[in-house]
Amino acid sequence: MNSSARAVVIGGGVVGASVLYHLAKIGWTDVMLIEKSELTAGSTWHAAGGMHTFNGEANISRLQKYTIDLYREIEALSGQSCGLHPNGGLMLAATQGELDSLKLICSRARYLGMETQMISMAEAQQLNPLIDPSYFCGALWRADGGHCDPSGTTHAYAKAARQLGASIERFTRVLSLTQRRDHSWDVLTDKGTVHAEHVINCAGLWAREVGHMVGIELPVLAMEHHYLLTEDLPELKGRDREVVNTTDYAGEIYLRQERGGMLIGTYEPNGIPWAPIRTPDDFSMQLLPDDFARLAPYFEVGFKHFPALGRVGIRKAINGPFTFAPDGNPLVGPVRGLKNFWVACGVMAGFSQGGGIGLVLSRWMAHNDPGQDIISMDVARFGSFATPKYTAIKVPENYSRRFRLAYPNEELPAARPVRRSPIYDRLLGAGAVMGANFGLEQALWFAPPGVARNETPTYRRSEAFPIVGAECRAVRAGVGIYETSNYGKYEVTGRGARAWLDRVFASRIPKPGRLGLAPMLNTAGRIVGDLSIACLAEDRFLIIGSGFAEEFHLRWFWQAEPPADVFVRSAASTLAGVSIAGPGARALLQRLVRVDLSAAAFKLFQVRETTVGFAPAIVTRAGFTGELGYEIWTTPDYFASLYDDLWDSGRDLGLTRFGGRALSSLRLEKGYGSFNKDFRPDYTAAETGLDRFVDFNKPEFTGRSAAVAERVGGPVRRFVILEVAAIDADVVGYESILKDGKAVGYVTSGAYGHCVGKSLAAGYVPTALAREGETLEIDILGEMCRATVRIEPLYDPQGARLRG
Ligand SMILES: Cc1cc2nc3c(=O)[nH]c(=O)nc-3n(C[C@H](O)[C@H](O)[C@H](O)COP(=O)(O)OP(=O)(O)OC[C@H]3O[C@@H](n4cnc5c(N)ncnc54)[C@H](O)[C@@H]3O)c2cc1C
Repeated sequence: MNSSARAVVIGGGVVGASVLYHLAKIGWTDVMLIEKSELTAGSTWHAAGGMHTFNGEANISRLQKYTIDLYREIEALSGQSCGLHPNGGLMLAATQGELDSLKLICSRARYLGMETQMISMAEAQQLNPLIDPSYFCGALWRADGGHCDPSGTTHAYAKAARQLGASIERFTRVLSLTQRRDHSWDVLTDKGTVHAEHVINCAGLWAREVGHMVGIELPVLAMEHHYLLTEDLPELKGRDREVVNTTDYAGEIYLRQERGGMLIGTYEPNGIPWAPIRTPDDFSMQLLPDDFARLAPYFEVGFKHFPALGRVGIRKAINGPFTFAPDGNPLVGPVRGLKNFWVACGVMAGFSQGGGIGLVLSRWMAHNDPGQDIISMDVARFGSFATPKYTAIKVPENYSRRFRLAYPNEELPAARPVRRSPIYDRLLGAGAVMGANFGLEQALWFAPPGVARNETPTYRRSEAFPIVGAECRAVRAGVGIYETSNYGKYEVTGRGARAWLDRVFASRIPKPGRLGLAPMLNTAGRIVGDLSIACLAEDRFLIIGSGFAEEFHLRWFWQAEPPADVFVRSAASTLAGVSIAGPGARALLQRLVRVDLSAAAFKLFQVRETTVGFAPAIVTRAGFTGELGYEIWTTPDYFASLYDDLWDSGRDLGLTRFGGRALSSLRLEKGYGSFNKDFRPDYTAAETGLDRFVDFNKPEFTGRSAAVAERVGGPVRRFVILEVAAIDADVVGYESILKDGKAVGYVTSGAYGHCVGKSLAAGYVPTALAREGETLEIDILGEMCRATVRIEPLYDPQGARLRG
């Protein structure tokens, strides 16, 4: 074994093997994989090998397609077969909701360039003759996917990596990791120490334990998972093609052909976590005892929906563990505070995702940039709220919903509430329907007295539609109050703060008493943040961003290496906030403050520290609704008093509570994009339109040269708002935008604009089509809807109300 390597990959499952291959491919040939047993010995060897391109996130779908397409490449390079059965996939719907969901997948697939279509049940039966069509109402066929041989695939990666110069040490256990002062690592194994610049945790079932070696608690948990292999089926004899891999959402069943029989697996409702505290060291190439008594009712559903399966015997049962993150997506990327330590774990679909994970991680390590937006599989989407208790509750919930289609208006109940603001009970008492953002409860909408809080999960407009409409109108006509505690908040202080911020942000850093909109770019000139900076004093700044991205932005700030005279800290739990918006906002706030709020005295984008009623507060004249508005920040101990004061003072002004749904509608009427939906690391400053806040006169800031270069040629696509002739469903995201039947872009977010009376979509289209009145189409749940580009905001285009 060599005593040094540029990078050591811990774990030789399908994920570690892929990471090794991709590092070698990107040119890091001095890389070593260390595996404590045989390759595949963890969860990989007993997988069912199913592969598909389906994921709620477009970029992850693309990476899954990349993974599947890659197999031919590694087969050619290694000479090792991946045992591919590229027979595509069928998804079966039993309810109108599931059917809608399949239609949404079809709309998305068009722009992703994937061959997908809705087919009749008769066509579905030709692809899988075992289906009893009486249980289903529709089907989707996709050409991508099928299944592969887990062991062959892992060995193909490994052999291909070796051919490129990588080395693999089997039967070698990593015992501990120690970081040197230069941030390189001593990897202590039972066969000696390897000195490595970088370490990657691909330890699968043991990812948690490898995390402990460096003092972190990764939110991963293993679940037991069963599948059965049947005896040969007479129905399959003589067929010239394999039964297509089939997913039955209603039955929570998947099946595929295995020789002359079938493989059938289920994700049952009351799944069992495996090794919840510590993964046994000696678990290698092992299975778990089967538990038919517990699982029989779920498999019986499968025998009903696919009756031929019930007529043959079971040849073999497999029960094996594999790991999940709380939301079911992988955990990938660098970990804040630990230089040169990377993770690629919590991968529940290694054969669909392993290749894509290797690709983005190798780019991230080599170029300090994954090359595309992957926030939904970034380890930084979880923060300190994702404790072991949270993970222990959330992972079984996710497991039980593996085959439930997620509705856009659905809020999952497990591990709630975790983080509560001081006014949580007041909001609940006022009828709030809550969602969770980064573990923090936030009001989505307020059920009026006598109206039920439960909303039917749907892709179409729900019972909440008219209620959200009323909240929107109340804001525009009078004044509304919205809790902003769920925003990301950071304090940057110290003598060097301004100079450091100037380097990190692309915008001008505001003077004391001012607030500035502040895009943050990566070196490729792509958007990694759309924040606002309030300058409280020359050496004191409050930065506000997206709550979901708190850990992501903290990691970004840490990577930007604040010097010794700059202090960055999260104010997530030390500041709570509220926004008031609408023409009555000034009159309301003036009742509680002594400072003059007149338009001339406190202008748009000014900030003041003052008292508001009982509360010492930071007040900014800003907001996201397009109305005259203020955001007020105070410490949690004063927050309830602040809220009560505002509420009591606003009664006669018609003060109305509004939630996140209304905010989405109001912001789209103004054409405002939102980070993580519309603005992501996939888009450049000019594409998003955030270039108008970039200070090109600054000699230096991250992403400057890329942003300057883009200015010369202009952006290839642009962010626009589209007015959609929708029927009873608004866009939810990632639907294809078409011109003359050809996909030219996709939707990033949408809502019904209640005050303009139009369904709205936000998205990106080629620059040539980003002109007022251009007519395009969006496929919403199978209906082609006219979509007209609107360059001017639909509401208050001159911004008169905002300037108030
Ligand atoms: C029954 C079942 C069916 C499945 N079906 C499918 C499917 O159809 N399609 C699909 O895509 N996925 C499926 N999966 C999931 C799939 O198995 C996982 O996504 C995949 O195996 C994860 O691979 P990994 O490399 O992350 O982890 P693992 O395979 O667990 O690999 C981790 C490796 O790290 C090694 N290691 C750990 N600690 C150390 C240490 N200290 N030193 C050295 N080495 C160490 C281990 O020995 C192990 O080999 C299934 C899983 C099960 C259980």
